[in-house]
Amino acid sequence: MPAIPSHSGAARARSWWGWGYTDAHPGDAECTAMGALLPGARARPLPIPRVTDLSIGRPAATPPPALAHLVTAAPEARAAHAMGKAYRDVVRALRGRPGRIPDLVARPTDNQQVADLLDWAGEHGVAVIPFGGGSSVVGGVEYRGDTHRAVMSLDLTSMNRVLEVDTASRSARIQAGALGPVLEDQLRPRGLTLRHFPQSFEFSTLGGWLATRAGGHYATGHTRIDDFVQSLRVVTPAGTGTSWRLPASGAGPSPDRLFLGSEGALGVITEAWMRLQERPRYKASASVAFADFHHALDAVRAIARSDLAPANCRLLDPGEALLSGASHDGSAVLVLGFESATTRVDGRLTDALDLARAHGGRGKAPTPGRDAPADAAVSAWRSTFLRMPYLRDGLARMGAVVETFETAATWDRIPALVDAVRGEVGAAALKATGHPATVNCRLTHVYPDGAAPYFTVAVAGRPGVEVEIWDDIKAAASDVLHRHRATITHHHAVGRDHRPGYDLQRPEPFALALRAAKNALDPHRILNPGVLID
Ligand SMILES: Cc1cc2nc3c(=O)[nH]c(=O)nc-3n(C[C@H](O)[C@H](O)[C@H](O)COP(=O)(O)OP(=O)(O)OC[C@H]3O[C@@H](n4cnc5c(N)ncnc54)[C@H](O)[C@@H]3O)c2cc1C
Repeated sequence: MPAIPSHSGAARARSWWGWGYTDAHPGDAECTAMGALLPGARARPLPIPRVTDLSIGRPAATPPPALAHLVTAAPEARAAHAMGKAYRDVVRALRGRPGRIPDLVARPTDNQQVADLLDWAGEHGVAVIPFGGGSSVVGGVEYRGDTHRAVMSLDLTSMNRVLEVDTASRSARIQAGALGPVLEDQLRPRGLTLRHFPQSFEFSTLGGWLATRAGGHYATGHTRIDDFVQSLRVVTPAGTGTSWRLPASGAGPSPDRLFLGSEGALGVITEAWMRLQERPRYKASASVAFADFHHALDAVRAIARSDLAPANCRLLDPGEALLSGASHDGSAVLVLGFESATTRVDGRLTDALDLARAHGGRGKAPTPGRDAPADAAVSAWRSTFLRMPYLRDGLARMGAVVETFETAATWDRIPALVDAVRGEVGAAALKATGHPATVNCRLTHVYPDGAAPYFTVAVAGRPGVEVEIWDDIKAAASDVLHRHRATITHHHAVGRDHRPGYDLQRPEPFALALRAAKNALDPHRILNPGVLID
């Protein structure tokens, strides 16, 4: 990946095979120390993979001279666009077996160039994979077919500007290829923010968030990117469309809804008018410990049903709390946070703590005040949360199978679902590896009628078959989710990995309509083949 500016403006190199910046990866000594904590892990880390060790052939298609300046066939660029950033992607890169490497990487800078590239690809049978930050964890940016003459990754990150700000309506027209920090850096001088902070914020784009219906950091209320969309511009092989900017509309099915979550299969989102917010002036946070995870679930449900609307309401089970350093005594921990641009939030935090205590929680009232420091558990959780993707890659180098998956279900199913996932996924991991696995759970988003549990699995793998082991564990997980009528994904999207679960979940008439939309908008079937629809 090319060097891109960091928050501080200094250029830092992005890893082509793993998460984030290369200079933030854990070194060999840190990897070895982490591996020592996992029975059965390797004694020494796998070496960092090199692009020069991959066999990258000549591209199977050549763009016409008019488009040549937008396209590269450089091996580094092609390798960096071959896969997303799931555990199975990282391991395939470590083992020198990445997915199908695209023949070309295109970097358009405007709408017309996107349309021209799609026209050329359609005429020549070239598959086009829209690519934002490439942080997909569901096989969303790789080609797994064999019916196209060549594969072109369409990297949108050169379209990264905030084009207009409408302060009266507090909204902005933003190009889809803006990475999170790039977008926020342009809004900050206006005192505004999109305030959509997925864990992958630094390395994912507005277009990727829209195309996958990403979930941000808000635990309650408006957390899904959908809620912030005023209008979209989408370039499809059948033409370009822009929806009207409206605060709301009852005019039939929403055109934006067709493209939100379309995962690059129906068109390329190139711009969006997005609803913005003022930067929060007031913040308060605290943690609450629970001896019993099920009592903690009751507390979270009570808070989700109140009108307190915490920005953060993450419930960590004892394993997750231990891993993040939020607790060392076997307690579950609820991390609560409130924020507002206009009103003090200390009272809301106090009320939420009261609700938590009524369900057996032990939480200290924090020091009131605008800049009150977060308590130790909150700080520990926050720093581990940001560092976790790097540590996952370090553990992968130690031969560990370590990955996450997420879901959502109504409250009536949550306790049994969480227990079943822990039991059955743990059993599947033991069967696949011979080692006991850690299966931790946290609730990332909560609703009055349900919650989104997020699971982390870690177990020592067997050399060379780590991907197959993970696929077995994931199949067991998907089976439990299906039996408990829990969604195959709350915010990670469908991609290629979740297709079987998604196909089971969607009603057949809806699948018919989606196929018809695909045929109409992408008649040559070049756009992200295999995602959402065959
Ligand atoms: C460590 C880590 C943490 C994560 N945390 C979160 C989280 O908190 N919340 C969350 O929702 N997700 C999370 N994800 C998943 C991922 O970051 C999201 O799916 C994100 O929205 C993808 O954005 P991207 O720009 O990287 O898109 P990509 O990965 O490049 O693409 C994702 C999909 O969208 C399509 N696409 C991309 N751009 C466009 C476009 N402009 N037009 C049409 N289609 C397009 C691609 O073809 C692909 O199907 C995480 C992933 C990782 C690795």
